[in-house]
Amino acid sequence: MPPITTLHFDNTYARLPDVFFERVTPAPLSNPHLVAFNPEAARLIGLEAEDPTDPEVVASLSGNRPMPGSEPIAMAYAGHQFGTFVPQLGDGRAILLGEVRYGSEKWDLHLKGGGKTKFSRFGDGRAVLRSTIREYLCSEAMHGLGIPTTRALSIVGSDVPVRRELVERAATLVRMAPSHVRFGSFELLAARGFAKEIGVLADYMIREHFPHLAQEPDQYAKFLSEVVARTATLIAHWMAAGFSHGVMNTDNMSILGITLDYGPFGFLEATDLGYICNHSDHEGRYAFDQQPAVALWNLSRFAESLLSLISREEALAALEQYQGIFEQSYAGRMRDKLGLREKGDDDGELVGELLTLLQRTHADYSMFFRALGDFDPGQPVQSDTLLALIEEDPTWEDWTKRYAGRLAREGSVVRERNKAMHGVNPKYILRNYLAQEAIAKAEQEDDYSEIERLRLALSDPYSSRPEFDRYAASPPSWSRELVVSCSS
Ligand code: AMP
Ligand code: MG
Repeated sequence: MPPITTLHFDNTYARLPDVFFERVTPAPLSNPHLVAFNPEAARLIGLEAEDPTDPEVVASLSGNRPMPGSEPIAMAYAGHQFGTFVPQLGDGRAILLGEVRYGSEKWDLHLKGGGKTKFSRFGDGRAVLRSTIREYLCSEAMHGLGIPTTRALSIVGSDVPVRRELVERAATLVRMAPSHVRFGSFELLAARGFAKEIGVLADYMIREHFPHLAQEPDQYAKFLSEVVARTATLIAHWMAAGFSHGVMNTDNMSILGITLDYGPFGFLEATDLGYICNHSDHEGRYAFDQQPAVALWNLSRFAESLLSLISREEALAALEQYQGIFEQSYAGRMRDKLGLREKGDDDGELVGELLTLLQRTHADYSMFFRALGDFDPGQPVQSDTLLALIEEDPTWEDWTKRYAGRLAREGSVVRERNKAMHGVNPKYILRNYLAQEAIAKAEQEDDYSEIERLRLALSDPYSSRPEFDRYAASPPSWSRELVVSCSS
């Protein structure tokens, strides 16, 4: 079990040409103290036995003390932000401390809020406690749901004031992922006309993360196809779970198809398919129901950046696969959510009508599916959630009958189905107000216990545990007033 000072670093990205990054030293945070430490992520790099409150560990996790073997760099990238190309973005408030090898895996340790880099533009290079808590909780919630994502290792707080809309306190988050390379990493090189470097980056990604493609004659076209497929399945996952990312700029799109960069995200609560979780997104470009189309648009920008390696025909052929993969993956997930084992011709209609009804009656998306897991066509409806909906809008009864008919057609067995449905429809999701309660306790009382409690509930969102019942309740009315924007 290596202590934090003897992690085995193998910094492959720092071996690439200089244009890919800037070497940096994290700017120390005064009076750092531990806010959160995630034993599940720690286990992935062999740190689970570490005492996270040890000042040496806190110093390492805050970026104050360099870890032997780490070579901190700020990664360079560009990106399309709200549809407009920005030729230079990059890690402005994040630093790749290094890549840790443990067992057969390799993990980037990425420090968020570690101070200014040459990519900081007008920013201060810092992250606030509020935003680190949101990312920490949501990335672990996504992992609990089975959705590919960066992981969160730790939060370190400080008393350093940081100006946002109000003055807040600076904090750092260490997150982990096999790679933080984004669509924008390629776009940066393409915009500068660096054809050779695009080949270097593509070769690097194939060697490190898609090694099965290395011997293929058309490896770059296949590489694009895999990114298309991974992105399509990721978005299907988001759509089925009711997750809205909020800032789907191409610099926030992972080449590995994992959820990256948590800002003003939100889960559907009272169903609104046009939900805009990002208060700064005035046009609704990244509204919940726009996400599948936006991802394809983003993939097209990524594909364009590969045109020195592949033909236009190859790029188009790869992009054309997107819709089919997305639809198939989404349909499969919705079948699972409805407890259907077989494909049916009219499943699309069944789901479409359901979404229309959820929208019309503003039903809570996650609570509805969880309640449906107790539905028994042979019995009068018992769930309060379903009864309330039927009372509000009698069309629900028609849908329920149709659903019951569909279940009967495949000889569905109540107990088996209900068990399966509870395994895919979460009881606990990260509602914005729950994150906000944990944030308020941390900010106002220096009490971090709610962060850990929530993490525990969300890390296993499908199994019902009485001690977490409160998290499964209807959100309070004040939660509707919560506003989240990009500023973090
Ligand atoms: P995001 O919206 O978090 O994906 O960030 C978009 C770009 O702005 C990235 O290049 C970030 O590194 C940069 N950025 C965001 N916040 C800050 C900050 N406080 N200081 C410096 N750069 C920032
Ligand atoms: Mg970002």
